[in-house]
This record gives sequence, structure tokens and C-alpha cells, in this order.
Amino acid sequence: MLKFLFSAIMVIRHENLGEGNMNYITIDKEKCKACYLCINECPKKLLKVSEETNNLGDHVVEFDDPDHQCLACAMCAMRCPDMAITGVFKG
Ligand code: SF4
Ligand code: SF4
Repeated sequence: MLKFLFSAIMVIRHENLGEGNMNYITIDKEKCKACYLCINECPKKLLKVSEETNNLGDHVVEFDDPDHQCLACAMCAMRCPDMAITGVFKG
């Protein structure tokens, strides 16, 4: 029984490590002017032009990080001239 519990804990731990980090950013699409400066700034290329538009009809950027590669470096937020990237979170 003890051996089984230990194995189960190790599997859970391994899965958690395999997930990578859970860093993320938040974008205020109504502040985004679709200049796309942030796209080139991200070292991991995690920002892309969205299909979605804001109230001005601009195709805003979206955060796309399926493999949890975000470094929470805030390069994107620092580059944005409109402060549309409202949060950088380290998970
Ligand atoms: S830099 Fe800011 S305003 Fe420009 S596309 Fe990125 S989030 Fe939008
Ligand atoms: S915080 Fe860094 S790694 Fe994450 S999306 Fe912004 S620029 Fe890219």
C-alpha cells in the first residue's frame, strides 16, 4: 500500500513538472491599437494577431501559449505604447 502511494505521488509530481510554468499575461483589447510591436518583442513568439476585433474594429493581439513557454519577462508589456498589456503573472 505504501509503495503504491509513493508511486502515485511520484506520477503526480512528474506530471506537474512536465506541464512547465503557468506564467501568463492579460491584454485589454479595447486599449490595443493593433500596432503589433509586442509580437516582435516576445522572445518566445507567444503573441499573434487575433481573429477577434475590438470596438474600433482592430484585430487585436492575443496570447497563445499552449506549451507554457511564457517567461513572464514583461518585454511585451514594456514595449506596448498603449499599456494594453495590463498584467504579467508568474505562475
Ligand atoms: S504593442 Fe500594445 S497596442 Fe500594440 S499590438 Fe501589442 S498590445 Fe496592442
Ligand atoms: S511576458 Fe515575455 S515571454 Fe511572456 S508573452 Fe510577454 S514577452 Fe513573451
